Amino acid sequence: MKRDYYAILGVSRTATQEEIKKAYRRLALQYHPDKNPGDPQAEEKFKEITEAYQVLSDPAKRAQYDRYGSTGPGDAGGWGFEGFPGFSDIFEEFFGDIFGTKGGRSRAQRGKDILHRITISFADALKGTSVTLKIKRMETCPQCKGLGAVNPGDYSSCPTCGGKGQVYYRQGFFSVSRTCPHCGGEGIILNNPCSRCKGEGRVTSERVVHVNIPPGIEDGIRIRMPGEGHAGLYGGQPGDLYVEVRVKADPILRREGKHLIYEPEISYVQAILGAVLEVPLLDEMIEVVVPPGHQPGESIRIKGKGMPSLDGGKRGDLLVRPRVVIPKRPSPKERELLEEIAHIRGEDVSPPERKGVFSKVKDIIF
Ligand SMILES: [Zn+2]
Ligand SMILES: [Zn+2]
Repeated sequence: MKRDYYAILGVSRTATQEEIKKAYRRLALQYHPDKNPGDPQAEEKFKEITEAYQVLSDPAKRAQYDRYGSTGPGDAGGWGFEGFPGFSDIFEEFFGDIFGTKGGRSRAQRGKDILHRITISFADALKGTSVTLKIKRMETCPQCKGLGAVNPGDYSSCPTCGGKGQVYYRQGFFSVSRTCPHCGGEGIILNNPCSRCKGEGRVTSERVVHVNIPPGIEDGIRIRMPGEGHAGLYGGQPGDLYVEVRVKADPILRREGKHLIYEPEISYVQAILGAVLEVPLLDEMIEVVVPPGHQPGESIRIKGKGMPSLDGGKRGDLLVRPRVVIPKRPSPKERELLEEIAHIRGEDVSPPERKGVFSKVKDIIF
């Protein structure tokens, strides 16, 4: 049986120990029998890569392999798989954390996070605000301190798994483990569960939480409040509370990053001659000068009148973008004056007493 261990792991002959380890870890995760149940090919592949790794990860064995090829001196059967000691070490090193094969496990579990959504006004987003929330969450049972039972005699170590929470059995060529069916992985049996929490270790409670919303907050931002989530189990850390802030749209102002956008209507006369506009900001009224000869699409920038910066940087700007409105029906007097302007400018316009060309055509057809 001639095998190229380097090719099996897909590494070069000059690969470092780190590269070999990485290659094995990747392949082992792919072909692990637990991930490919009932697939003998995957199992065979897993065996093969493990054998290659066992040789190449050991500098002495690797040197010997490099010198003598696939067969060790005086060893007719090659390196073989089962013959190697230390398989369980490798197995634990790589999979202990993933498949829980490390003897026993900590019962401590971190509590889950809580997501809570609130909606604030545009003005509150500008100024900042504080809100008081009532959050339903799991808290450590005060009666049993989260242990699930009050007195030491009320619980005992699980006889099936010996308190480890996992039971071990052999599958093919290696040992695997699974959650103990007797105790559900907790390692203990409650003989007399706590009356308050029924042995859960936690109880539901409602808690009042104050949240400060900083000025300038944007729609959709989540504020993290560490430790305000559900309580952990068996001494585990509590989860976090995330407050997602939604900001209501304002009827007048729009936000673009930290800048505020205001798009008022102005007449064509104001665009030509210039104008002074009153701009209703959220916390004040300001005057903005539209200079004569304003072109559609142009903005007037008022520095520092936008949203505050969340990171303490400069406040954004106000961008006033007047929209020039053309009247559909000028009054007879207005029309007269406009025709005079057209005459001065030497421009051809439709005469007043006649209908427009298009409505005339319509009259003929219909
Ligand atoms: Zn309790
Ligand atoms: Zn058990």
